[in-house]
Amino acid sequence: MRLPNCILCRSSFDESKVKPEHVLLNSLGGRMTVENVICSSCNQLMGNGPDEDLAKSVEGLRNYGNLKAGDGDDAPKIIGYRTKNQRFDLLPGGRPEIRPIRPLKFKEGEGGTVVEINASDDKHADLLAHGAAKKLAKKFGRNDEVSVADLREQINSAKRHSLMEPPEIQIRTEIGGYRSQQAMAKATLVLWAKLVGNTEVLERGYDSIRQFIWQQESTSGIEAPTKFDARPLPSFNEIYGSCPCIVWAGSDSKGRVFGYFRLYGMLGWRIDLGHSLDVIDRAICLISNPFNPSSWKLYTEESQPLESTWILIDWDNYTAENDTRLDGVTKLMCELRTRSNELFVDNLVSEALSESGLTVGQIITAQHISFISNFIAKRLVITRLQVERAV
Ligand SMILES: [Zn+2]
Repeated sequence: MRLPNCILCRSSFDESKVKPEHVLLNSLGGRMTVENVICSSCNQLMGNGPDEDLAKSVEGLRNYGNLKAGDGDDAPKIIGYRTKNQRFDLLPGGRPEIRPIRPLKFKEGEGGTVVEINASDDKHADLLAHGAAKKLAKKFGRNDEVSVADLREQINSAKRHSLMEPPEIQIRTEIGGYRSQQAMAKATLVLWAKLVGNTEVLERGYDSIRQFIWQQESTSGIEAPTKFDARPLPSFNEIYGSCPCIVWAGSDSKGRVFGYFRLYGMLGWRIDLGHSLDVIDRAICLISNPFNPSSWKLYTEESQPLESTWILIDWDNYTAENDTRLDGVTKLMCELRTRSNELFVDNLVSEALSESGLTVGQIITAQHISFISNFIAKRLVITRLQVERAV
């Protein structure tokens, strides 16, 4: 049997090179893949171009809301986030982990050498204290193990925990740029091909969307064939969560073909995909819950989660600017904040319990309680060690 041709470059597939292609990006929680729709070289070009742009544009949101990828990989960590005085890594859930800018400082004072250590936690402080002790021991020609241990103890005995100003974290997110829209157009076109077949999509009626998908933004004379949509989503099955990702493609009774891409339920883009001579009144929809990527479904002919009439409104007269409600953004941000807070508390408690050595069924003693509350309190503060006259 002859394999179909790639819907983007028309080349015929090499059976040995066929790789599954995600319809909704893995980083957006997508799980469904298709084969023999886009060839591996187009797939790669997309992956390093528009798809990457779309994925990067939501990294901050994914980090903050701990949104895992479709394959179960953790939400991205954001490295080297800086505020005025401090540097942090942001762990999934938007949890700041301090990366002190100058963790270890030596100053020569009148009374001797001053060692100042800024650490993110006790373990980190101990490690730095050991390093400082070795360095000082060497400096003072007392390079034996006993002296190093003694210095380390001196430094450690000066340990103080102090409350630090919580970082003001701002997630700057630019969503729906030109290249991201190209990725969305590609996703909806792939989905459409899944319903109507590659041969249909290879017709000339779809040439202009192909051209848009490959267009370099800088040299583009082509306006994106898209329309931004800030309308609130109609209600649908709650298993997809309140902020679902939706990839939709369909045609109307005149054979005009459209794509629709809704990102985290927040904002949408309608895309003119082309026109068909044969395919009218069809629709296909992939809907997925970004908070639980295993809740997803592909709707083909059966009743659709979104009415086609809702997507195919009179777009000529719709402008998102009139829609000042932006409900979707508010809804998503509330949802992410709740999730991020829950995750923070969850992590803190489970870490404290595991460090305390408590096992299931064991009697909890006053020492356990004191350890756990100490652990939690210390986690909320920065550790500082400052030793004057270390030697
Ligand atoms: Zn191709």
